[in-house]
Amino acid sequence: MEATDFIFEQLFDDESCTYTYLVGDRAAGVCALVDPVREQEVRDLGRVRALGMQLVYTMETHIHADHVTSGNRLAEQLGSRPVVHRESPVTCDALRVGQGDCFRLGGLAVDVLETPGHTPESLSYLLRAPGGDKLLTGDALLIGTCGRTDFQGGDAGALYDSVHGRLFTLPDATEVYPAHDYQGRRVSTIGVERRSNQRLANRTRADFIALMNGLHLPRPKHIDEALPANLRCGRPDPQS
Ligand code: FE
Repeated sequence: MEATDFIFEQLFDDESCTYTYLVGDRAAGVCALVDPVREQEVRDLGRVRALGMQLVYTMETHIHADHVTSGNRLAEQLGSRPVVHRESPVTCDALRVGQGDCFRLGGLAVDVLETPGHTPESLSYLLRAPGGDKLLTGDALLIGTCGRTDFQGGDAGALYDSVHGRLFTLPDATEVYPAHDYQGRRVSTIGVERRSNQRLANRTRADFIALMNGLHLPRPKHIDEALPANLRCGRPDPQS
């Protein structure tokens, strides 16, 4: 695809500090949202309509505990389809993908990496973009840090293996775009994170597990609403 046709917008939700990404191919007229947040539905619909493009996918990096996805609502309104891990427990209709899969968004190739540890069904998406690869890491790898591993089936050893075995083996120049940042940072690279990530760089697997198991973080505010809703891709509970 031509560089001028590649659309990549990094959007931010102040309440949950979540980055949502709008990715598209202008020539093909198709786009996708990565990790869309329910409270930002109007913003996201506005962006898609302003571009005049068809929303084909809502790509989830994992089942979120801190916000509810708008995947189901966008599917109902625009006909988009959620993309989730092949073994994800979500109950909605979705494109299910796993390690080594590649799918296309117009002329843009998206490689799928399974990166469990923050949750078992965590995915990273590698966009083979003109001008250089962009890696959407979800909460597996954050800028200077990583997602927590103390609930939702989290596993510090698995996260260490995902990051060192699958993400840090990518070329240094690969741009890293996380699902969250709490300090306003927007992008990093694999080279920078491999050398200087405070939790993951230059640390043994055993040290990392001890570090993560000693964090004792507070329980996320919205987890009791977010987890069951996200298992339905954001669809409201039919019982309530
Ligand atoms: Fe998360």
